[in-house]
Amino acid sequence: MFNLFRINGRLLSVQARKEVIRTYKSKMSAPITITYDETRKVELISQYTHIKEKISSEEAQHHVQLLAVSKLKPAGDIKILYDHGVREFGENYVQELIEKAEILPQDIKWHFIGGLQTNKCKDLAKIPNLYCVETVDSLKKAKKLNEARGKFQPDADAILCDIQINTSNEEQKSGLFNKEEIFELVKFFQDKDVAKHIRLNGLMTIGSWEVSHEDQSIDNDDFTKLGEWKQLIDKEFGTDLKMSMGMSADYKQAIRQGTSEVRIGTDIFGVRPPKNEAKII
Ligand SMILES: *Cc1c(COP(=O)(O)O)cnc(C)c1O
Repeated sequence: MFNLFRINGRLLSVQARKEVIRTYKSKMSAPITITYDETRKVELISQYTHIKEKISSEEAQHHVQLLAVSKLKPAGDIKILYDHGVREFGENYVQELIEKAEILPQDIKWHFIGGLQTNKCKDLAKIPNLYCVETVDSLKKAKKLNEARGKFQPDADAILCDIQINTSNEEQKSGLFNKEEIFELVKFFQDKDVAKHIRLNGLMTIGSWEVSHEDQSIDNDDFTKLGEWKQLIDKEFGTDLKMSMGMSADYKQAIRQGTSEVRIGTDIFGVRPPKNEAKII
């Protein structure tokens, strides 16, 4: 048995290895400066500006929020857009979001748009500048978010929440489609004595892939359905819910069909790397 370890291709004794790890950790706890190169900056800002212009040219009567979806993209990319004035970013993976939130500016408004698991609600709610969770799809998860926010970040802003609706009846997709369940969830948000740390913001859907890649000039059934849910809930509860629908492939339709927010990743940041190759720094 050798007490030797390989670090960066060199063999080290246990003592030397401990030293290396100590140095590494102390560097990690120092503030991290996030750098980026000029070529990437020019490219990203140009793509972002292009999408912004397309959105304005589609915009009918109301303002449409552009959410930059930065999942699997490095912190440097986010910093480029941040320095350009962008403050809202969308992420899909809890651990990645936690790490990015730690090293990026505190005034970023993070949106969580990934599949929400009950056992991850606590970790999410701990992120002080978590702004919105767009994928709330059960009463249990709403309760968890509320409880954890109250316990770990009692002074932070309430987390805005969107109820995710499954508008395409695809079994593998998350989201609610049962009226009783949806109404029960809305009622919980309206119980101000209990739901103090979360606030209902709107409804969210992910359009089915087939429909979103069809002719962009005809109405998208998923978006039509989300609009119908909004009307139904607004009428019943006196709310004025926002709608989050539309991604790179189908945002133009979503805007025409009255969305409040589009979530764009690929058209801003380019194609994403596989998850196991993604690097934050
Ligand atoms: C990844 C993702 C997006 C962005 O998708 P693009 O096609 O890259 O624009 C939007 N919404 C959700 C829920 C996502 O997971």
